[in-house]
Amino acid sequence: MIEPGSTIGIVGGGQLGRMLAMAAAELGYRCHIFDPHAGSPAAEVAAFWTRAAFDDEDALRRFGGSVDVATYEFENLPVEPLRALGDKLRPGTQSLAIAQDRAAEKQFIEQQARVAPWRRVSTLSEAQAAVEELGVPLVLKTRRFGYDGKGQVWIRSADALADAWQAIGEKPAIAEAGVDFIAEFSVIVARWQDERHAFWDSPENEHQGGILRRSTVPCSDLIAAQVPEARQAALKIAEALGHIGVLTVEFFASADGPIVNEIAPRVHNSGHWTIEGAVTSQFEQHIRAICGLPPGLTGLMRGGAVMENLIGAEVDRWPELLAERGTHVHIYGKGEARPGRKMGHVTRVKR
Ligand code: ADP
Ligand code: MG
Repeated sequence: MIEPGSTIGIVGGGQLGRMLAMAAAELGYRCHIFDPHAGSPAAEVAAFWTRAAFDDEDALRRFGGSVDVATYEFENLPVEPLRALGDKLRPGTQSLAIAQDRAAEKQFIEQQARVAPWRRVSTLSEAQAAVEELGVPLVLKTRRFGYDGKGQVWIRSADALADAWQAIGEKPAIAEAGVDFIAEFSVIVARWQDERHAFWDSPENEHQGGILRRSTVPCSDLIAAQVPEARQAALKIAEALGHIGVLTVEFFASADGPIVNEIAPRVHNSGHWTIEGAVTSQFEQHIRAICGLPPGLTGLMRGGAVMENLIGAEVDRWPELLAERGTHVHIYGKGEARPGRKMGHVTRVKR
């Protein structure tokens, strides 16, 4: 067990690291952030900060020597240098390596659960073949570095293919059949080294332009009917990865059951409502799981919650949001409110 008073290393210094560090502080831990960027939202609330590149192995080794356990909050990390953290790293590099490459991810997930038909494409002619085999609509997604809908282009007619291939930068990609989903939801699960695990209520997730707009708990009855099967799939995935900590699996609720979209080997935007909406938040539970503390209860505090992201200039609405009684406002302390950037979120707990 990693006891309160110990130091937790967090690789990545964004808002997820910030909320992890705040939850860790409540339990009496100190956090040490590893991130190369000035103005890191997480470093601002943590005891220590190493400012170094994610591939700086010497810096990672020193960081590893100064912490009792380490975790990551960011997916696009070079995997090899992280091996310097050895078995202090939870979850391990396996979860990260799979999640950061969409082809490896799909191939892995389809052993455990249902995914949309897909093809690996690295040339225009392979993309052509994918369109012929899978039909349209189809979405091209770069294998690496995609998030918030970035690195994705939809193809709605075969003659749009060449432009789409150019638009994703002719990079190694996957082609995925468009899913005619009824709704989207996620399963968030925390898993311990001894295989104990805990789920939260599954949020119903609405996206706009590839970015999460809103998560609502409880979800609709239609999704609720698919949650048991989706939980089984998520747990199988977590077990196959040997995952320790929080894992999130995004699903499409289709007319014939849940289809896995993608996984995130970490706490997730669709779980931010747990801070005020659940007995134990995803952030605290992740700390509990990686430190080997007992699991916290995950039930609803009240009737549910709605979490809305503050994207770009929406964060400027803080005065009116703060004036709204009972609304929980979270501002991540990022400098510039660029369009599409997640600047904060608000949670309204249902009474
Ligand atoms: P990201 O890493 O950017 O979250 P996702 O693969 O989750 O990438 O895609 C973002 C959103 O785009 C999804 O939540 C969904 O709304 C839409 N989307 C992605 N793939 C498909 C698909 N095959 N069919 C229908 N919608 C999709
Ligand atoms: Mg996604």
